[in-house]
This record gives sequence, C-alpha cells and structure tokens, in this order.
Amino acid sequence: QYPHAFAPGRIGSMGLPHRIVMGSMHLNFETDAAALAAFYAERAAGGAGLIVTGGVAVNRAGSGGPTYLVSGEPAYLRAAEAALGAVHDAGGRIALQLFHAGRYAFPGTYGLLPLAPSAVWSGFARTVPQAMDETQIRATLADFAAAAAQARTLGFDAVEIMGSEGYLVNQFASPAANHREDAWGGDAARRRAFPLAVLAAVRGAVGKDFPVIFRMSGADLVEGSAPPEEYAALAEALAAAGAAALAIGVGWHESRIPTVQSLVPHGGWLGVAAGIRAHLHSQGHRVPVIGSNRVNSVAQAEAALASGGADYVSMARPFLADPRLVAKTEAGREDLVNTCIGCNEACIDRSLGTDRVSCLVNPRAGRETEFPPPSFPHRRIGTEVAVAGAGPAGMQAAATLAAAGARVQLFEAGRGIGGQFQLAQVVPGKSDFAQTIRYFASELPRLGVRIHTGVAVTAADLGSFAHVVDASGVLPRIVALPGTGVPVLDYRSAFEDPGALPQRVAILGGGGIAVDLAHFLVHGKGTAVPVPESDAEATARFRREHLAPGPPCPAREITVLRRGPSMGRGIGPSTRWAALQALRNAGVELRTGISYRELVPGGLLIDGPDGEAELLAADAVVIAAGQVESTRLQEDLKEAGIPCTVVGGALAAAGLNAVRAFREGLEAGTAV
Ligand code: SF4
Repeated sequence: QYPHAFAPGRIGSMGLPHRIVMGSMHLNFETDAAALAAFYAERAAGGAGLIVTGGVAVNRAGSGGPTYLVSGEPAYLRAAEAALGAVHDAGGRIALQLFHAGRYAFPGTYGLLPLAPSAVWSGFARTVPQAMDETQIRATLADFAAAAAQARTLGFDAVEIMGSEGYLVNQFASPAANHREDAWGGDAARRRAFPLAVLAAVRGAVGKDFPVIFRMSGADLVEGSAPPEEYAALAEALAAAGAAALAIGVGWHESRIPTVQSLVPHGGWLGVAAGIRAHLHSQGHRVPVIGSNRVNSVAQAEAALASGGADYVSMARPFLADPRLVAKTEAGREDLVNTCIGCNEACIDRSLGTDRVSCLVNPRAGRETEFPPPSFPHRRIGTEVAVAGAGPAGMQAAATLAAAGARVQLFEAGRGIGGQFQLAQVVPGKSDFAQTIRYFASELPRLGVRIHTGVAVTAADLGSFAHVVDASGVLPRIVALPGTGVPVLDYRSAFEDPGALPQRVAILGGGGIAVDLAHFLVHGKGTAVPVPESDAEATARFRREHLAPGPPCPAREITVLRRGPSMGRGIGPSTRWAALQALRNAGVELRTGISYRELVPGGLLIDGPDGEAELLAADAVVIAAGQVESTRLQEDLKEAGIPCTVVGGALAAAGLNAVRAFREGLEAGTAV
C-alpha cells in the first residue's frame, strides 16, 4: 500500500528494510539496561528498521543531566551491551547518537560548568556557559572520535552526530550562540568549521565504510540565528565530507515557534528537509535526507517520500505509542495502530526533567519488563469481568484484562467510547484524540471485549461478574455563583453545543479543560495552526500571522478567569506556552488572581488581583473549574459485596489527567 515507505534503502554500507527511522528519544531510563533492552527489542520486533538511541554524551561536560549515559562509562557499556543484543536478536539495526549538550547542559551534574562556543546565557539550563578554549575544543573533538570508535567496536550499526535542536554542534553553527572571532566563528564559513571537524573526527575514527548520519538543524527558529542559506551550505559541506545521511531537525528548546506540539499540523515542518534535499540535488549531492517532526503515521511518511521531499522519514514518539506501528501498517492493519496524539505529556515533558519517559496512550512504554506481553496459558482465562465506563482508564483496563484471557464486558453510559477524549477531539490541534478512540474501537473487539454503549449499569446489573472495574469517571464540579441575570452552564454542555453560546463568554477555571474550551470556542472544531515552509520569508510570515497579537475573534469574546496565579495549570511545560500563546494571539483574555462575587445582569461581578471590584461583561458563564469523582457505582458495589477496583477519575478527581487514567487502567487490568 505504501510503496515508497516500504521500499528497501541503504544508508552508506547499511541496508535497511524500509524508509521509516525510529528517531532518537531521551528516555530517562537509559541507565536501566534491562528496561532499555526490552523497550528497544519490542520496537525492533515490531518492524522499526533502524533505531537511533537517545543521545549518549561523548564526555561528562556534554551530559544533558543525571539520567544521560556517558560514553565509555560502566553504565553506558552495560546499557549498550543489553540494547545491542536485544535489537540484533530481534532482527533490527541500531545507531548510537553521539551527543554533547553544550550550553543546554545543566551545571552541577558532574560538578562541571557547561561548555559552549561563547558565554551566551542559556534560557533552557538557566546559566551562562563557559566559552571553550582551543584545548577544550580539540579535546571535545577527540571525545567525539573516541565515542564513535567505541560504538563501532561494541557493534552498533551506525552512529548519528547530534548537530541540531540547539545542542553543542548546532550552537557552533549559529550566530545566536557563537560569537567567536577565531577559526571557529566570525563568519558563516568559520561557524561551519566545528560541525565539519566533528564529522571529520568521527569519520576518521570509524573508517570510510561505517555509516555516519549527521543530524543537522534546518531551521533554528530563534532570534539572530543562521539564515536558511547557511544551513543549505552546511548540508552541502557535510555531504561532500562524507556524511552517509543528513537527518534534518527543526527548532531549539528556546524557540517560541511550535515544532512538536499537537497544534502543529502533521508533517508541518517536512518542508525544511525538502528544501535542503532540493538544494543538495541541485548541487549534485545524492546523500539521503531524513525528514522529521510531527509525522505520526506511515501514510504521512509515504506522502513526504512520494513527493520527493525526503529519502527517509524519522518518527520517534509514534514508536512510544505503538511499538508495532510499522508491522501493523505493513500488514494492512492501520486500524490497530495506537496513534501518537502529540500531547507530549508522558514523553517530552518528562524528558525535560528526570522522570521515566512513557506514553499517555500506551502506559506500557518504558515499563515493558514490569508489564511483559501476555503469554499462554492466559492467567485469567475465562474470568468474567465487567468494566464500567469507557473512558481512558476503562478502555485500557478492558484491553489489558482481555489480553490476559478474561471475558470482558465494557459498559458505557454515553453514546460512544472514549470518555473525555470525545470532548478533546474537537479542540484545535487535538483531532488525533479521535485516533485513540478509533484504535480502541478496533482493538477491544479484536481482543474479544463486548462493548455496550448507552448502558448506565448499576450494582444490580453486575452481580454475576467475578470482578468489576469501576472506571465511571468524573462529573463537572459545580460552582454555586450567587446572583442571576446570566446563564451558567458546565464545560461539558459548552463542548456539546457551542452554537448555543452567545457572543461574550466568561470561562471560570484556568486548567487544561478551560484552555481547551477557549481554543474550541475561538478557533472552531479541529482547526490547526498552520506552519510555514522552510524559507525565512515563510517563517517571518508565520511570526506575523500567528505570533503577533491579532484582532479578537469576531465571532466570540472569550475571557478565561482563574483564581490562582498561573493560567494553564496542569498543562505540560512543552505545550503550555504554545497553547496560551495561540489563545492570546486569537484575542482571548486570560486573567489570573480573580475572585468571583456574583452574577448580575450583563455579566459577572469580580474582584481583580488588586481587590478592585469590576463588572466583567458576559452573556454566559461556563464553569470549567475542575471535576469531582463519580462515586455512586462504587458505593453501590461495596454495599452489594461485589469485588471492585476503582480507577481513573472515579478513584480521585484531583490532579486527574489522561496519563494517570491510562496508567491506572493498565495497572488494574494487570492486578485484578
Ligand atoms: Fe505521543 Fe503523547 Fe505518547 Fe508522547 S505521550 S508518545 S506525545 S501520545
């Protein structure tokens, strides 16, 4: 079905079965060799042709933090041995990513100051790095070479030099981070010197026949950085210097243009790789180009490959969501692919700290040794289990139990499965939440789960089951506002019938649901924020159109009000800024430190942060101020003496998010 994606390929001397690369991800469990091996093994067995590891620092100064492996050290050697054996036994190939964080290193990890081309403040690491002297530069080049040579000796199939996303090699290439006036900076040619020296050092260490992939930035998306022609020239020089493939990254940690958030349309940045590939071809270079960013299906990769925009497509997060993404697609079962929804909640947001990376829609990711695949004889063969509620926790519990052999019936009071994902799928940038519903709608029947929708079960209906999982979820929290004169409704009603809302709407509550609702009301169902092509003019246009404050949405005036000090509480750090930025650009007013007095004709009387009373003009007030547990069923089950496990929002509404709901579904499905 996808002739370009499933065409065999070759990167240097390395043959590959298809054109999909599993891109590098820092997982925060690299030092757990058994977990790392199990994680990679499932993906290799599931069809990932080439796996690129998370970055392994070439020396301690280049480490991204305490969870990073450092080349040559015992933890690295243990992890490498385990990962190599697991991937090769499963028939896969694995490339080691050679990494140096530069000014993105956090001071103190090894008691070392971060090193960088120049002493330029790092907003990411919140420190000023030390500018490298000639000795440090030469030593770092030697460390890249030593790490590459060791990778080849250990048995890696390739290496990838991390030269994008704002890390050290990229910093040298960029005038935003490289202010030197010596052989390593000062003009575009000298800014290319360090990336080329790294490639030469690595190439010299591994020999001519070993595949060396260079991941370079195609667009830094930070003020004062290199224009596209400098990166085109760098690509040309790298190709001439013997890179076996060029993987094209986009954006730095400091960028304030979204690149990986769900509001970026699928494949929205592939044009950057396409532009570099076109330039290389025009200069007679045929080095393979690997495109990336926000591609979450083989179908999207196929489109990029078929159009000639890339020779390979790298996907990373989609392999967290479904380790068998490639195998299922190749077998014609895309309906069974658990699609990455671009939420970042259990992956990128965690990788920015030290928590173990996993996946919201696949809570087994990263915990493969804890939750091994079910094996015969099934532990729960024939056990009759009822699951009440088909939201995230209920769907996951039902799938886990059925995979372990239980006879599962899933009861949902609403019209369809999905729970809060039914609401989320209409939010701009969240249309992929529908893919999760599609996945479970296929996977649950495949596992033999009988689904009953429109059935609000009671304890009286469930007496014949050996066990009940109560995943009946949450109810909107009611906030009793004194006064009258303006209609008040809950967020569910607003999502379900937005057309009934008047022009001026005040949303009470500043968490994820309030932000989502505001997006939905101003942007409309499923609208994505467009992202430009690779050239500077398009980037400038994107800035003008989407980052500059725009006129308020003519259809609606939305104000989001929060008592607390910060808007978007509960939204992950990689997404929050982008979501709030998009709301501000659409003219939504975001106000914090507010207390509510009463409803009055024409609006809501509030106290501002300074205690001043104010009439906020509104024609309707929507309460999106949290949720409470739905407890009726669990109380009835307890009274009836029916064994029951409570999960998700029904267990605890405070701090509920979908990551926790899916995880509890998995844990309950395993423990029952
Ligand atoms: Fe994708 Fe979200 Fe899973 Fe990350 S946590 S892999 S973004 S679905």
